Amino acid sequence: MIDLSTLTIKKAHDDMKSGKYSAVDLANAYLSEISKKNKEINAYLEVFSDIIEQAKEADKRFKDGTSTLLTGIPFAIKDNILIKGRIATSASKILEGYHATYDATVIEKLKKEGVVFMGRTNMDEFAMGGSTENSAFGVTKNPLDISRVAGGSSGGSAAAVAMSGSLGALGSDTGGSIRQPASFCGLVGLKPTYGRVSRYGVMAMGSSLDQIGPFGKTVTDTEIIYNTIKGKDVKDGTTISDNTYTIKKLSKKPVIGVPRHFLGGDGINKDVIDNFNLSLEKFKKIGYEVVDITLPNIAYSLAIYYVIMPAEVSSNLARFDSVRFGLHKDGKDGIDDYFVTRGAGFGKEARRRILLGTYVLSSGYYDAYYNRANAVRRILTQDFVKAFEKVDIILTPTTPAPAFLIGEKTADPVAMYLEDIFTVTANLTGMPAMTIPSGFSEVGGKKLPLGLQMTGRHGEEDLLFRIGKEFLGE
Ligand code: GLN
Repeated sequence: MIDLSTLTIKKAHDDMKSGKYSAVDLANAYLSEISKKNKEINAYLEVFSDIIEQAKEADKRFKDGTSTLLTGIPFAIKDNILIKGRIATSASKILEGYHATYDATVIEKLKKEGVVFMGRTNMDEFAMGGSTENSAFGVTKNPLDISRVAGGSSGGSAAAVAMSGSLGALGSDTGGSIRQPASFCGLVGLKPTYGRVSRYGVMAMGSSLDQIGPFGKTVTDTEIIYNTIKGKDVKDGTTISDNTYTIKKLSKKPVIGVPRHFLGGDGINKDVIDNFNLSLEKFKKIGYEVVDITLPNIAYSLAIYYVIMPAEVSSNLARFDSVRFGLHKDGKDGIDDYFVTRGAGFGKEARRRILLGTYVLSSGYYDAYYNRANAVRRILTQDFVKAFEKVDIILTPTTPAPAFLIGEKTADPVAMYLEDIFTVTANLTGMPAMTIPSGFSEVGGKKLPLGLQMTGRHGEEDLLFRIGKEFLGE
């Protein structure tokens, strides 16, 4: 029996390399957990039928000496990332019957390592949401408390790792969709610097905000996955090379900045604040300096995000036109086909955002909303750049509260949007941000994970990994 609960990528690799068990044994161990749990949790929309064949290929690499750290490692992939020949739906009915015709760059890179793709994971439709309740295929439950959400929009990927249904996972993060579910499920999740990871072959939501990133059980695992998927890609003109940003050389322990003025809102749970303060004490104990900083315009970040993101959504989702991809419904004529198909194919939240986005981009409102939001986005980024002259990372909780109950916020979209208060800034500024598990909140006899979010300067993922490891004692 392989003990999956304590397994990490590094350990699984060592075990397979030394012949303790094979990639096929490992795949079977995960498959058996999936068959026990997925019906209830709904992390996977599809479990692939060729897992054992993939694992056999991995075993060959252990035999012929071409294995790498990720060879044979079971992976869960969010359903908005294309894997050639496989179904990809973004958890939307509008992509019914669609099969990917090529591999996303991140998939190509993972294939080169010989990972084992376990399946496609559930998500909020086209990554719009924070609870995976906007999926056309049912909610994903939190493996740590099935009355609660696993977070979103990459809820399926987080739940897959948390229920021992995979060892690593990929998600996408436009406003927090990796970090928030990672935090709700007790995992590490990274939103890389904008441009560090190729978006080629990933269904676009908000193109100036989207990044693909890893989920792992440890910082080390997350780092291994990130180092594999990152890099400049000729197929994505927004990608950057390793030396695009100058990395600051530190002569002493990194200084932590805390925007205290932003942590006092009524919507922030007491356990979250207590845990955050305890985490700061822990940092001080291991020698870090903690200072207060001011981010004068951070209070506008949610408002900016909820103008820019729907604007980009409305334009990106225009491609689902009943002709090129997936679902087609006949209307009275060609134009009517478009309306009928989109009306039937898109769920409520997708339609809400398309409407909002079309509104803020329409003539007469473009300057008042979209352009103004972009102007404030630039000012907000400057605030962060300035703060980073004095500190090396900025620390906040990842979410204002632990995982909420399924159904708790579905009737109130604004309450759901407020969930993103701490996460959207990293997407707006393009800076890297990582969540690490920092403790628990006990609710009704259940231990709900809490997360700590560290934001770094552009290009400084390595510093986040270093600090994360020191905090967790890895
Ligand atoms: N919860 C945010 C939203 O609904 C984030 C989504 C995401 O990162 N994909 O927009």
